[in-house]
Amino acid sequence: MSDLLKDKIAMVTGASRGIGAAIAKRLANEGAKVAINYNSSKEQALQVLSAVQEVSEGMLVQGDVSVQADAEKVLSQVIENWGKIDILVNNAGINRDKLLMRMDASDWDDVMNVNLRGTFLCTKLVLPYLIKQRQGNIVNVSSVVGLSGNPGQVNYAASKAGLVGFTKALAREVASRNITVNALAPGFITSGGMVDELSSDAKETILKKIPMGRFGTVDEVAECCLFLCSDQSSYITGQVITMDGGMIA
Ligand code: NAP
Repeated sequence: MSDLLKDKIAMVTGASRGIGAAIAKRLANEGAKVAINYNSSKEQALQVLSAVQEVSEGMLVQGDVSVQADAEKVLSQVIENWGKIDILVNNAGINRDKLLMRMDASDWDDVMNVNLRGTFLCTKLVLPYLIKQRQGNIVNVSSVVGLSGNPGQVNYAASKAGLVGFTKALAREVASRNITVNALAPGFITSGGMVDELSSDAKETILKKIPMGRFGTVDEVAECCLFLCSDQSSYITGQVITMDGGMIA
């Protein structure tokens, strides 16, 4: 443990498992106090909390990021507990994969609501605190799919491409206030979710497209997120960092 983020307060959305959980633990390991947001996976979120509490302070904040009242409740709990916030990682995300011809409007709306509207709501609530203290870092978890597209994922790809535009526009709005806004675009990451559930044939096919010949890990994503949340990246804003083993290079 070291103290790159000593005295910082961070909130990570969708931190009950996978990439969000790894980010929450990595930030805590550098001294940040971390609010762990989740929607329904309380048991898993409790495990993340106990890992965070081994090295720093943590709290659970339950809420659906796409619902304004929930996002407001979540942030007010953080402020009530710690009095401020410095870092927001918009990581909560879902997919509802189908070819466009079979996709319902609800598949579209669900993905847009969590991935894009959730990011909008949480960011809008956190921003006044960052502006007031003239300091802060926002990291949005996009995806290579938002840059390259992928069949069966028009909704997901559109939401992740939306996050790229959101990141770049907001970075320009708040740069003069010493607030950085960046995005991560991970490729195929073994997060315990979709990638791990693929058949071995499907995994083989994908691996052939990755120059490094392997999937990424949640810890690799968390490491890059830490960089974007720390003073080590103080002159970097409006960027999208692709981490995909060279896949779309
Ligand atoms: P995951 O294992 O499915 O975890 C998703 C997290 O988001 C869970 O903690 C879940 O919490 C939370 N969540 C879902 N809906 C929510 C909502 N409405 N409000 C609050 N939290 C919500 O996903 P992952 O693989 O770690 O991916 C994390 C992020 O990285 C996502 O944005 C994903 O699109 C992006 N990404 C992943 C990959 C990859 O290969 N894994 C690649 C590129 C980008 P609950 O279970 O409590 O609902």
